[in-house]
This record gives sequence, C-alpha cells and structure tokens, in this order.
Amino acid sequence: MPILVVGSVAFDSIQTPSGSVDRCLGGAATHFSLAASFFTDVRVIAVVGEDFTAEHEGVFAARNIDISGIEHARGRSFHWTGAYHDNLNEAQTLQTDLNVFANFQPKIPTAYADSEYLFLANIDPRLQHEVRRQMPRVRMVCGDTMNYWITGHAENLAHVLRDLDTLLINDGEAKLLAGETNLVTAAERILQMGPKTLVIKHGEHGATAFFSEKSFAGKVRNRFFRAPALPLSTVVDPTGAGDSFAGGFFGYLASQKNLTPAVFKRAMFYGGVMGSFAVERFGTERLQQLTRTEINQRFELFRELSHLDAD
Ligand code: AMP
Repeated sequence: MPILVVGSVAFDSIQTPSGSVDRCLGGAATHFSLAASFFTDVRVIAVVGEDFTAEHEGVFAARNIDISGIEHARGRSFHWTGAYHDNLNEAQTLQTDLNVFANFQPKIPTAYADSEYLFLANIDPRLQHEVRRQMPRVRMVCGDTMNYWITGHAENLAHVLRDLDTLLINDGEAKLLAGETNLVTAAERILQMGPKTLVIKHGEHGATAFFSEKSFAGKVRNRFFRAPALPLSTVVDPTGAGDSFAGGFFGYLASQKNLTPAVFKRAMFYGGVMGSFAVERFGTERLQQLTRTEINQRFELFRELSHLDAD
C-alpha cells in the first residue's frame, strides 16, 4: 500500500564530532521516504528550488520513490544548518531558511488521491493540516514535528494533533509539547491532545509506545511498549535518524495486511533498524547504499538484543 508523505525536502549543512558537510541532500520527507521505500511504495509532496537538480532526483529514482508530486519553484530549497556536540541525541539548530517552503500551497495530484497511508513529516503544521484536509479517506495518518514548530506554531500544530492515529516525536520535544518534565505525564497529556497512540523516540536508547484506550479499540494488554536501539560504537551523523525510524516504522505498517498490536510492535523494531543505519554516515549516504538483506540481518540482531528465554 503506497504511503503519501508531506514534509521538507532540503539541503542540510551539518557539523558533528566526526566532521562536517555543506548543503547535502536532506529534509524530513527525504530521509523518511528513503527508509520507507524498502517496505512499500512512497509518494512525496514537497517543494524544491532551482538548486534541486537531476542528481538529487536520481537519489529518489534509485529507490523508485514517486516524486511527481514535488513542486519546483523559483528560488532556493529549504536549508537547515545544525550542529551536534557531546550529546548526539540533541541537534542544535543554527539556522532554518524556509526559502521556497515559505509560500508553498500543497496540492495533491490526482494520481496520489488513492493513497491509504499518510505521513505528515516534520514541516510547518499549516502544510501538514492542508494535506490532511485534502485526504479525508486515508486509512491511517501518522505525524512528526519538532521544537521549531512546537514553540512558534502551537495553535496550528493543535489542529494537526487532533486527528492523528500515531504521533512520533522525540522525548525532549514531547516534554516541550506537553509542558511536563516527567515523560509518562507528558505522554498522557499528549494523548489527550488527539493522537490515538504516541511513539516517543529516545535516540540511542530506543523508543517507547504509549497506548490509549483508542489504540486498537482498547485491545492492548499494557499501556507501554519499549523497543531497543542498537548500541553503536560510531555515530557519524544523527540527522535523519528520527525520520528514518518513522520510515521503517510506517513503511512496515503499510506493507502489512492487518494492523494488530504485534504488527505495531514489530514496526517499532523496523524503525530502530532504519534509524541505526541512518546514523552510520552523513546525510542520506547510508540509506542510499542499503540492501534489504542488511535490514533483515539487523532486524534479527534487534530481536536477539531484547529476547528473554522462558527458562
Ligand atoms: P531528524 O530525523 O529529526 O534528525 O530530522 C532532520 C531533518 O529535518 C533534516 O534533514 C532537516 O532538513 C529537517 N529539518 C530541520 N529543521 C526543520 C524544520 N523546522 N522543519 C522541517 N524540517 C526540518
């Protein structure tokens, strides 16, 4: 089942303790769609500027990602400048240049109208809401956001949260969104804002699902589920780890016939697998070279990592 994603397609300038890159291909929708493309078909809604060339299109084409919904506008693409210091779980945003995204009015091409899965990747919540409005019949909607939008665009974000099936967000952002310092209390508050289920990502420490009585019609045994992260000796660039997690998670969900709690939990493992690959190189480099065999092997590693024998 194809996933429709709206989010940033961008150029990133990144500094990490391993080095730096200038204007490499990035953006939430880019990382998400590369990761999800290993599981299902992906269609992208975004806008790019004149600096987005055939070479960049080739990155999507190599993974059969449908980018006919990406609009080309005059001007420059979204540009994010960020740095990571000792804490690789936390990006410091140095500059956000919205550029062509500032005046973007998303339109869903007719060829995309039958998409049953919608991912609202990190971008202005006004755009997320606009795309959601144009897709009233989707089967499942998941979304992401970040501090930039939580602090500056809270009211627009509230509209988006209201009818999400699952919100994926990192722990610092969850606390910021809820105005709480305890994670469980923060999760409870966020679940009251609309999402049926919440997945909080903890960077190198994995991810936790918080279920509500609206998740799986109340048929989940526990309120929480924790999926591991793979301990890695080198993290080159954490940028896009969260989006790659989301791509693995939602890509796997969309590839399955029925959405059961077991499928949801396995999807969180696939999320962890894709996030763990993403951080091994700068930008999208690692996902561009990845194979399905490597994904399967790492999934087994994740399973081993958290398996407890009965006796
Ligand atoms: P993450 O998976 O959270 O590390 O996402 C990193 C990606 O988000 C980068 O490739 C950036 O281009 C993109 N990004 C950074 N800031 C924003 C923003 N304010 N809105 C949308 N996308 C952003």
